[in-house]
This record gives sequence, C-alpha cells and structure tokens, in this order.
Amino acid sequence: MQILDEKFCTGCGACYNTCPMNAITMQSDNYGFYKPIIDTEKCINCELCKRVCPQNNYISANYKEPISFAFQNKNKQQLYKSASGGAFAFFAQEIINNGGIVYGVVWDKNIVACHIRTDNLNDLEKMYSSKYVQSNTKETFKEAKKDLKNGKIVLFSGVPCQIAGLRSYLKDNYTNLITVELICHGVQSPLLLEKYKEEFLKNKPNEKILNINFRSKKIGWFWGNCYTTIETSKKTYNLPDNYYAKLMDLTMNESCFSCKFTGFPRVADITIGDFWGVNEYDSSLYDKKGLSIIFINNKKGKEFFLKSNNNCNITKIPLDAAIKRNPNIKNVTIKHKLRDSFLNDLCMENKPLVKCVKKYLNKTLGRCIYEKLPKFIQNFIKYNVLKKEKC
Ligand SMILES: Cc1cc2nc3c(=O)[nH]c(=O)nc-3n(C[C@H](O)[C@H](O)[C@H](O)COP(=O)(O)OP(=O)(O)OC[C@H]3O[C@@H](n4cnc5c(N)ncnc54)[C@H](O)[C@@H]3O)c2cc1C
Repeated sequence: MQILDEKFCTGCGACYNTCPMNAITMQSDNYGFYKPIIDTEKCINCELCKRVCPQNNYISANYKEPISFAFQNKNKQQLYKSASGGAFAFFAQEIINNGGIVYGVVWDKNIVACHIRTDNLNDLEKMYSSKYVQSNTKETFKEAKKDLKNGKIVLFSGVPCQIAGLRSYLKDNYTNLITVELICHGVQSPLLLEKYKEEFLKNKPNEKILNINFRSKKIGWFWGNCYTTIETSKKTYNLPDNYYAKLMDLTMNESCFSCKFTGFPRVADITIGDFWGVNEYDSSLYDKKGLSIIFINNKKGKEFFLKSNNNCNITKIPLDAAIKRNPNIKNVTIKHKLRDSFLNDLCMENKPLVKCVKKYLNKTLGRCIYEKLPKFIQNFIKYNVLKKEKC
C-alpha cells in the first residue's frame, strides 16, 4: 500500500504516530529526508495512514486575512538567542509559567534536529533559533495527545506541514492546545547536515560539535545575514557567510516545492517569522537585535495573545507590509533546476561536499549575479560569452 506519491510526502510523521499495528517506521530516503516505510508483514490495510495524511485531507478554517503585528520580545537574553524577535520564546515561556507543556525542535546529542516535549525553561532555551534542516517529529504527536487528554495546556511548534500533520492526527480541536508555526522557505536534507558536520570536523581531532546556531546575532539581525556559530568541545567557531545557508535551495525536500500549507488561511493558531522589509514600511521599527512578524490566525490565537504577559513591543501592521519582502508567506519556493543533480552527486554518488559546493555554488552564485545585470548585458553574455543562439 502507498500512503501517497512520495514526492508529496513532507515526512510530518502523522501516519507513523497513527498506525495501530506499529507497521510504519520513519526512515531516510535516498536524499536523507524522513519518509514513512510500511512493513507489509505487519500492515492490515486499515488505511488509517492514508486518511490521516494532511496532504490528503487538509482544510483550514482560520481567518483568510490574519491580524499581523511587528513583534519584539523585551527579554534581552531570549531576544539575542532567538532567530528573529523572540516570539517563540515569549509564547512558550507563557505556557511553561502556567504549568503547561511545550513541543519544539532541539539538537539532540548527535546534533540531529528533532522535536521534544518539555515542561521546563532549560529545555526551552535549546528550542530557540532555526535549525535549517528537516526535524524528526518522532512520537511527539502521541505524547501531545496524551498531555491534552490529561488536561495540560500544550503549545506545539514546528513548520506548517508538521502542524497540519498534528492537527490531522488529533482530529479534535482541543481547547487546551495552541499551535505555533514558522513561516517556512522549505526544509533541508538531514543527510546534508551530516555531511556538513563531517566536513567541519575534518582536521579537528577529538572535537565534538555541541551546538550550531545558524542565525547568530553576533553582527546583528538583517536580511541575508547567515552568521553561523559552531560550539565544539574545544572552542566556538564564528563563521560569517556560512556556505551551508547558501545551499538551501539546492537541498530542499521535494514536497516543499508543492507545499499546500503556505499562504492563507494559515494552518496554526499563530504564525511567526522574520519581519523582512521592515525598513521599507517604517524604519523606526527596525532594530538590529531582531524583529518578528506574527499572524494571529483565529479566535483562539487572539485570546491567547491578549492573555499573554506584556513583556514585548508590538505594533499592528497591514498584511501587505508583512508579505512584501517575505515571499514564502504566500508562495512556495520554486524548485532550483540544479537541485536534483546536486543531491544525486552528494547523496547517491557520495561525492565530497566540498566538491559539490565548488561545482554547484559557483554556478548558482554566477547565476545570481547574472540575474541582477541589466537585460542588455545579460543578452551580451548569453550570445557572445555563452554562445547561445537567438531563436
Ligand atoms: C527551515 C526553516 C525555514 C524558514 N523559512 C523562513 C522564511 O522563509 N521566512 C521567515 O520569515 N521565517 C522563516 N523561518 C523562521 C525564522 O527563521 C524564525 O524561526 C522565526 O522568525 C521565529 O523566530 P523567533 O525569534 O520567534 O523564535 P526562534 O527562537 O528563533 O524559533 C524557535 C522555533 O523554531 C522552531 N524550529 C527550529 N528549527 C526548526 C525546524 N527545523 N523545524 C521545525 N521547527 C523548527 C522551534 O521549535 C521553535 O518553535 C524558517 C525557519 C526554519 C526552521
């Protein structure tokens, strides 16, 4: 039995959490993305996995036009450690302080991104900042259901397809559940991250990676800044302009290119992201310490937001201003034409990452520069340098 065409599978884990026979395991596909594999010996063809798949049954009753705010957490530590304006930390702390449970993404001891459950502020801190890789939701949907049934207040965070998976798995609209989704460009291959870590540790004998922060604010928060810090057992490495971030479009999950969970109405109760383009809207709001955009997507989200403490700065903004410089709020990422060959070289042919980076990044960087040139110069290059024929 096939749950759905593999190219649409986001690997959210709803089917894995649902199967009554434990016949499904989440395994890495050829490019390293988590995908469900059915053990046909155990499968009883009940088709619950097909029915729970959010790709087969997703509908959102949220506002068609959410209420949008520029948001900044006033807690300086939380703000510094978060990718944007510390919106997640703000909401999550509110839940923990009220005896609730938070689900979010951390690096495990092997620096693999996975969802965990927590009821304390120490673990919460590990969830801060963006891990640019597909996370493994493991059994967190089952755990969240148990918490909800036990009357706990639960905040579940993740990328929109994971929230759609959770909602589909839960079926009931629990009043004690708050969902928070990220605006999402697309998720990268866990195998890419493995190869990246391996490459990074080359010539660093006896060093172990303890933490990676792809969104370090060492030089501030601004568009295009990919300042990475990697903490090892020996020291902290500062990597401005890290090439990992530049590989994003080349290493995304196939399902991201046809994502159903972008645009409006949103999936979760609250959406959080970066307020890119804030300077064009109102430069007095810009702060290099970071600024979030948040969408309140339904009545539940609104009530939770209004009830939360006021240790934050918020400004209501028009939806258009939020969307203008953040294309993934509304649109899916367009598949890079070199994506398949890059991942084939890296994952199937097992070519060294540095070689792939040299081969493909140069091409894509060249392409980026080319696309910024005026049309007449592009044509000159096309017909004289690249010797393309006019048709
Ligand atoms: C793969 C990815 C793509 C993104 N694309 C965009 C984009 O195009 N535009 C935009 O505005 N913002 C995007 N973001 C979100 C942005 O990077 C910030 O996470 C967001 O602005 C929230 O910032 P914060 O300061 O409120 O909280 P932070 O503390 O930075 O965020 C922590 C939250 O992110 C969650 N999280 C971290 N890594 C993952 C992961 N791999 N999978 C699922 N959840 C994760 C944690 O569970 C926690 O809920 C993306 C994030 C990720 C992980």
